[in-house]
Amino acid sequence: MWIRNQILTKEASKTSVKLISLFFKNYFFNIYFSKAPRPPQHQQRIFVFAISVLLLSHLVFSSASTYATELTCPKEIFQGGITIITICGDGDIIEVKGSFDTRDVYFNSTSLSGTYFGLLSANLTAKPGIKRLNITVKKSDGTKEMIGREIMVKDGNFKTQHLTVSKKWVQYSAEDLKRIKEDNRIVGALYRKATGTMLWSKPFIMPLEGRISSEFGLRRFFNGKPRAPHSGIDIAQPSGTPVSSPNDGRVALVRDMFFSGNSLFIDHGQGLYTMFFHLSEFAVSEGDMVIQGQTIAFVGATGRVTGAHLHFGVRHTRNKVSPWDIVNIVVP
Ligand SMILES: [Zn+2]
Repeated sequence: MWIRNQILTKEASKTSVKLISLFFKNYFFNIYFSKAPRPPQHQQRIFVFAISVLLLSHLVFSSASTYATELTCPKEIFQGGITIITICGDGDIIEVKGSFDTRDVYFNSTSLSGTYFGLLSANLTAKPGIKRLNITVKKSDGTKEMIGREIMVKDGNFKTQHLTVSKKWVQYSAEDLKRIKEDNRIVGALYRKATGTMLWSKPFIMPLEGRISSEFGLRRFFNGKPRAPHSGIDIAQPSGTPVSSPNDGRVALVRDMFFSGNSLFIDHGQGLYTMFFHLSEFAVSEGDMVIQGQTIAFVGATGRVTGAHLHFGVRHTRNKVSPWDIVNIVVP
């Protein structure tokens, strides 16, 4: 028994070292070395999480002699945030399932024995406050272990933005309303139909480089009237500039929509979608499998826009989440 404990302790320490190096890659590398522009608030949220991760990793080390299944997750998440969480146990784990607030958290095994990862997200419009994370760990002997945490969803303190557009975009005709309703119905059905298989494994990349003309989360006013907050980032580039797929996936929807113009949605599996709006042309069709870096479309100025740009958005289990957060995630 003593020898078994020693082996488990050694295994746990090895896994801890791997996890710490993973989180260094995930967070510190991005804070100090990544050239991608980010709002200061984003850097702050990553930093806070990195500190929490290091403290939790330390706990894994110090409690290794009484080794049990460990959950590594942040204590807080901002509105519109998405981050990686890990479950680290012995090789007996066969399945991990979870939920956060009203949404599922899907888990996948990693290259590290007994280690699983999941994505945790909070909607851009989530009410700030404490939400419950519940995880069920199933072992090969049929036993189940329940792990629960309380995580604080914090106010993103997003700035406001005032835009002036032609009347057509704020006063809708009966025909426009019919179109808007139909767009919402089709897109809503798409988000609810989460596919099981995870289609990506590499870190996400930006679909286009360029000046950020509108940030994620802005509280928007069109012609002085409040509208939905900005659910993606706008990257300004001339019409016709190629747009790359940020990761592997399947083209789930290609549609000309009222607000977002020519729109393309990629399903990456397990409720994770990326979307590309205001395109001039599509380079792929619905049902196509795409790989990271492949040209999927071209920048345009279709739909409700003030100039040519790409709107890049991310949804996770129906939550509107920050594209900046998704490109920071590194899978163990
Ligand atoms: Zn936009």
